[in-house]
Amino acid sequence: MAPALPHVTHEVLNQVPPLAGYDVADDPALIEALQREAPAAAAPGLHELGVRAGSGQTRELARLANEHPPVLRTHDCLGNRIDEVEFHPAWHELMATAVGSGLHAAPWRDGTPGAHVARAAKFYVWMQAEGGHGCPISMTYAAVPALRHEPILASRFEPLLASRCYEPSLRAADRKAGLLAGMAMTEKQGGSDVRAGTTRAVPAGDDGYLITGHKWFCSAPMCDLFLVLAQAPEGFGCFLLPRVLPGGTRNSMRIQRLKDKLGNSSNASAEVEYDAAFAWRVGEPGRGVRTILEMVSATRLDCVLGSAAAMRQACVCAVHYAGLRRAFGTTLVSHPLMASVLADLTLESEAATTLGMRLAGAADRAARGDAGEAALLRLALPAAKYWVCKRTPMVAAEALECLGGNGYVEESGMPRLYRDAPLNSVWEGSGNVTALDVLRALATAPGSADALLAEVDLAAGGDRRLDAAAAGLRRELKDAASACGAEAQYRARRLAGLIAVTLQASLLARHAPGAVADAFCASRAGSGELTAGPGGVFGALPDGLDTGPVLDRARIGIHG
Ligand SMILES: Cc1cc2nc3c(=O)[nH]c(=O)nc-3n(C[C@H](O)[C@H](O)[C@H](O)COP(=O)(O)OP(=O)(O)OC[C@H]3O[C@@H](n4cnc5c(N)ncnc54)[C@H](O)[C@@H]3O)c2cc1C
Repeated sequence: MAPALPHVTHEVLNQVPPLAGYDVADDPALIEALQREAPAAAAPGLHELGVRAGSGQTRELARLANEHPPVLRTHDCLGNRIDEVEFHPAWHELMATAVGSGLHAAPWRDGTPGAHVARAAKFYVWMQAEGGHGCPISMTYAAVPALRHEPILASRFEPLLASRCYEPSLRAADRKAGLLAGMAMTEKQGGSDVRAGTTRAVPAGDDGYLITGHKWFCSAPMCDLFLVLAQAPEGFGCFLLPRVLPGGTRNSMRIQRLKDKLGNSSNASAEVEYDAAFAWRVGEPGRGVRTILEMVSATRLDCVLGSAAAMRQACVCAVHYAGLRRAFGTTLVSHPLMASVLADLTLESEAATTLGMRLAGAADRAARGDAGEAALLRLALPAAKYWVCKRTPMVAAEALECLGGNGYVEESGMPRLYRDAPLNSVWEGSGNVTALDVLRALATAPGSADALLAEVDLAAGGDRRLDAAAAGLRRELKDAASACGAEAQYRARRLAGLIAVTLQASLLARHAPGAVADAFCASRAGSGELTAGPGGVFGALPDGLDTGPVLDRARIGIHG
């Protein structure tokens, strides 16, 4: 009898292998910004982290952590409440790398100027490995400035929050080698309007309080410490609530359930209830919102960096794919219309990276007492948070389409990027709330408008389109100052977008290659009014641009 033939129907042709085995830090906009913003603090280990982030092994960890989301275990086998969240080992590996690389609170213990910038660069690189675990990492980074309002608590916990040891076990904070922090503000009846919170704090002696109430969203509920807002007799306060009490027993924080979310699947987001849970007060009594806003400001910077990272990842994947996939006799990227789409995406990505790193530099210098940089940050950060996070889902959707049907399939990694993309715009101040914060900055920090315009003017005279845009921004800022409340609020998104895009154009004019700056100004400032392309759709660039050098910025392996 003749042997059975293998069942071969066809040869696989023209399929593009997934982008793996590359250095994520091979990113000219990032490296140039790092050198500008922190010349004294090179980021040692950046490329090692980049290689790890771009490896096939890490890609697999990201897949596993998302396909095996965390599971809540409310009780043990005897019926006792344990309130534990079980994660896939891949999550713990990702977390161990992030903490071991000092992406959480480490820069607060590093006196080197530029330490926050170096950390921002690494955070941006590592978030391209997997975005979900960035949540507890960012919250731990951001907890420190709020905690410093209470120096005794800060001296007790800050070294552990900055420790590079990832210790997920559930033990008393003082007995662990490393800690993570979360925050709980949002309640059922309101998240943006945090003052509507009904959770109560009752004094229990020695600066201790007993907290009773609920939080509707509390991400990363396995953290060791949480900054919680609650109503105390002296007003709304900020409190530090340990998950395990100093004696070793569990605090009465019950995890009721985990949210079934659109994306961000590797990360746990919980509904929690406190039943006379013990907490320490942080900061002045009755000034809790002000205290926790320090934390919110730092997490907003990470929203910008995380969204810029997602855009970069989406672009690099799309450019890689289009460089290898062939259609109608040539590679996709050789088709002029595809080159326009990819170049437009690359412009958006480079502008986001450059702005994010500039703001990381401002945050670093502001933390070291630079008042001018603090003023710039106060206005530019909410504007950037609003704009960059809003642009990310559009970039993800368009980049996904560059892969055609393959982009719609999980194995490409694009669907995860797409599902995760809206999140940074929702939390830490949803779009409207962040845009309204731009108005608040103008009203309460008048020097912030001057700081912003001074920064934009550093590129004055180099490009008439940018000059026209800067003049437009000046007019809008003046109008905003004189507009009545309702009128100003109605326009707040427009103003926030204008601030962000004008600042991006100015930064690119000063620092990016000529072709990038020219294409950005032509597509976003061509009419003298900054726009983001007709209808905001990518790939409708004006005529006559040199897209080749723009695309090179997103090509892996051609940078020195
Ligand atoms: C995955 C995930 C994780 C989260 N993790 C946490 C966490 O760890 N800790 C935590 O405290 N919270 C967390 N949140 C909650 C998040 O911060 C809130 O959802 C967010 O602040 C919005 O609050 P809300 O959902 O109550 O919406 P609302 O406040 O009801 O707002 C709804 C909409 O109205 C808009 N809006 C509100 N006020 C105004 C106004 N004055 N003018 C115009 N528009 C307005 C908002 O921009 C928003 O678009 C998380 C959310 C998600 C999705």
